[in-house]
Amino acid sequence: MGLPLAVTARIGGYTVKRQLSGKKYPLVLMLEPLFRCNLACKGCGKIDYPGEILNQRLSVQQCMDAIDECGAPAVSIAGGEPLLHREMPEIVQGYLAKKKFVILCTNALLLKKKIDDYRPHPFFTWSIHLDGDKAMHDKAVSQDGVYEVAIEAIELAKSKGFRVQVNCTVFDGADSDRLAAFFDEMERRDVEITISPGYAYERAPDQEHFLNRERTKQFFRDVFAKGAGAKRWHFTNSPLFLDFLAGNQQYQCTPWSMPLRNIFGWQRPCYLLNEGYAKTFAELMEETDWDAYGVGKYEKCADCMVHCGFEGTAAADAIKHPLKLAKLAMRGVRTEGAFAPDFALAGARPAVETYTSHVERELARIRAEKPNAKRHVVAAE
Ligand code: SF4
Ligand code: SF4
Repeated sequence: MGLPLAVTARIGGYTVKRQLSGKKYPLVLMLEPLFRCNLACKGCGKIDYPGEILNQRLSVQQCMDAIDECGAPAVSIAGGEPLLHREMPEIVQGYLAKKKFVILCTNALLLKKKIDDYRPHPFFTWSIHLDGDKAMHDKAVSQDGVYEVAIEAIELAKSKGFRVQVNCTVFDGADSDRLAAFFDEMERRDVEITISPGYAYERAPDQEHFLNRERTKQFFRDVFAKGAGAKRWHFTNSPLFLDFLAGNQQYQCTPWSMPLRNIFGWQRPCYLLNEGYAKTFAELMEETDWDAYGVGKYEKCADCMVHCGFEGTAAADAIKHPLKLAKLAMRGVRTEGAFAPDFALAGARPAVETYTSHVERELARIRAEKPNAKRHVVAAE
């Protein structure tokens, strides 16, 4: 387990160099090459776009341009379901040829059918969507039997020599004992975990299933306490991010560290919020009013503790304070005592409605370019 040395050296070297430059920099390109999916999870805010938008795909060239523009050393490919994209093997191969670390996220339903389109590579990882044990996961994805498919996919990919991790989103109502037992199960299977609390972004249709800030911190303390301060398990998250989840670090987000490119363009300001789109990465970086976003600055950010907003902050902190990181790695995450102070939420500027405008603009563009495009139906891939 753990990243191969060549990957760690490459990403570590890049991060230190960019941190020393003092400028904002991306760590991981978040790529959504399509929104279409073969599941319909109740917490998903992607799959309810109009059919014409669900039928759109980023081309191989657009995917390559995205990494060239931003220069991040790693790319996480999500969606929608990336395995529905016919050119996904070519996209992965293109990134590997550029020596990028590729995380291909999937709900695993198509993995058995598509796995031979891919080859194990030190810079390539399958990331299987798994939100806990059978009952937790099947409930999260609103379909019975998906847990078993994901477990089979993990075993299959490992047997073929692939590196495999799971991405696990935690929703309100999760049971800390069961989540700890799930982590034990992943440990037994020698699988690393990427953990993140869900975020009640404006388009998620099921708002009450997301954790708020205070409950998130206490919940993760409860879970980590059952695993020796999280030391018993292997996470892909940085230890300082786990410490932040447990309420021991006061971090503001660094949304540019995991920028999102999808069919609308470069999403402003982050993976979680749709506040408009930039045509290029340079435009995103230069023209986004970054100070207008973050916890305590904007109403929509109030409950956000999501990894794609705060992992970059934790990585920067680790470079600035290596001793703090070393102590944490030795002692584990603190699960008792006072929480670190957090940002006051009272002065945050009010939320602005932005969804309709970019969807309407994209529909107008598609209809102008392809007046005969199918509006609702798309062929199975
Ligand atoms: S698998 Fe992912 S993209 Fe598909 S419906 Fe579920 S959350 Fe949405
Ligand atoms: S806190 Fe940061 S990462 Fe989270 S939604 Fe707001 S801008 Fe995005």
